[in-house]
Amino acid sequence: MSEKLWRKNYIDIEPYTAGEQPKSDDIIKLNANESPYPPSPAVSEVIARFKAEGLRLYPSMDAALLRKAAAERLSAENGVELTAENIFIGNGSDDVLATAFRAFFNSDKPILFPDVTYSFYPVWCELLKIPYETPEVDERFEINAADFYRENGGVVIPNPNAPTSIGRGKDFIIDLLEHNRDCVVIIDEAYVDFGCYSSVELTKKYENLLVTQTFSKSRAMAGMRIGMAIGCPELIQMLGAVKDSYNSYPMDKVSIEAGVASINDDAYFREIVGKIMATRDRCAESLRGMGFDVAKSSTNFLFAEHKSLSAKEIFGYLRENGIYVRYWNKPKIGNRLRITVGTDEQMGKMLALLDKMPGIR
Ligand SMILES: *Cc1c(COP(=O)(O)O)cnc(C)c1O
Repeated sequence: MSEKLWRKNYIDIEPYTAGEQPKSDDIIKLNANESPYPPSPAVSEVIARFKAEGLRLYPSMDAALLRKAAAERLSAENGVELTAENIFIGNGSDDVLATAFRAFFNSDKPILFPDVTYSFYPVWCELLKIPYETPEVDERFEINAADFYRENGGVVIPNPNAPTSIGRGKDFIIDLLEHNRDCVVIIDEAYVDFGCYSSVELTKKYENLLVTQTFSKSRAMAGMRIGMAIGCPELIQMLGAVKDSYNSYPMDKVSIEAGVASINDDAYFREIVGKIMATRDRCAESLRGMGFDVAKSSTNFLFAEHKSLSAKEIFGYLRENGIYVRYWNKPKIGNRLRITVGTDEQMGKMLALLDKMPGIR
């Protein structure tokens, strides 16, 4: 019998690993940056009223209704004129980002992203065979713009960065863009709604800037998979061309309608984002009082290190007590916890447990 040679042609890849999804409802789940609040009541209404009869037909190829609603909302929020031509929609921003990597990172030069960042970027590079380099963040986990001045095949930076929670302002982004005129620069704004500067306005001036956002975090719709990219019409058309080359109908009808409902309920959106930010800041203060170093967060999570107890010990202790947070056994961040901000009640339970942990004080 011959060896199974076809196995030699398998792709050699280590997939992205997300925070675990426990089966029990008793767990307080602070490990995937999901929202502790439900989506807008308008989303529930749209889903309840949805007529399954309509599923007979394919959905809109370009999610036109959702693009239009997003363009209007983003125009108002950012003080610029955007239309549906400036918006691309996909199945979560992971899908949008993967499409953008395929569409824009085709030179032989390495693309650049920070060494401490969203761990999906290197996975897409391996999958799509894109060379990459990872300039180091400094000892305070800050990204140094000058490290991104060198020649490259593209730049990807989350703002705020993950898992560090640190957000940067307009000057930083302009500095990056001014030094990167000949490649596509992607700013991943998965957490931008929690109090960070948004680069959306700059897409009007810089045609090589693509901004991505998601409904998964601030809009409490991780289970529905809606993400978007904002950029000049040429970049958006390119994304559409790549999408149509492998899956023309990524957004189902229910998602398109539910997405529009979420966008149109701005009051609710502001209410839940405001609550999460207030809880976050209170919780960060309490953690500091217990001997944690907590980075200043512009997101819905905290990036924290204790002065004496290891992240691994604290992670294990919380897990045994039914609270899941995130911890990576990796260089540089191996002693840090990433704690998603839940409700006041959930954070209160976590703080009370930590307070009783031997050695915390
Ligand atoms: C959560 C996250 C995403 C993707 O979220 P989707 O659920 O796919 O929209 C993208 N980038 C960063 C940095 C994230 O944390």
